[in-house]
Amino acid sequence: MKKRNVRSKSSKDVFFKKAQLKTVEAIAKSFSNRNEKIGNKKKILNLHSELRREWRVLVDLKIEEKNYERMLITGGSEFEPKSSTIKLYLVSLVVYLHEFKHVLQFFYPEYRALKDPEEDAFAWALAVIKQGLPRYYELVKKNGFFARFIAERYRYEVDEEA
Ligand SMILES: [Zn+2]
Repeated sequence: MKKRNVRSKSSKDVFFKKAQLKTVEAIAKSFSNRNEKIGNKKKILNLHSELRREWRVLVDLKIEEKNYERMLITGGSEFEPKSSTIKLYLVSLVVYLHEFKHVLQFFYPEYRALKDPEEDAFAWALAVIKQGLPRYYELVKKNGFFARFIAERYRYEVDEEA
């Protein structure tokens, strides 16, 4: 019997590099237009479809803004590997990307820059935001934890003039 071709380490690295670049482009594209009427919730859902395809991960996204109990317990979001679902209790790009990195940790354990999964997820989310939406990145960095709450108000539409 012929052995199945396993992707080599270097071709995986190329895949990760390309997918990360596409992630940055998708973030910039979905959130930098000031004039469109699409809300952040829809933008995050659209972005998720794109990232899911690009990273080849079968994972659902559910946004439950009124689930205050889970919001308090989880801090705003969670990824459930069992049902392969990201649950967002806040409409926030930085929170969504943080959870998406947990998805990547699950599917691609080797694609990780930091040992601690929480630090790794925060670092990745900030890294792709920094490249895709530099002015939003400054806002997130300046406001730390609270950025997840104020982010929605800014609608991320802060990069167009840059
Ligand atoms: Zn986390």
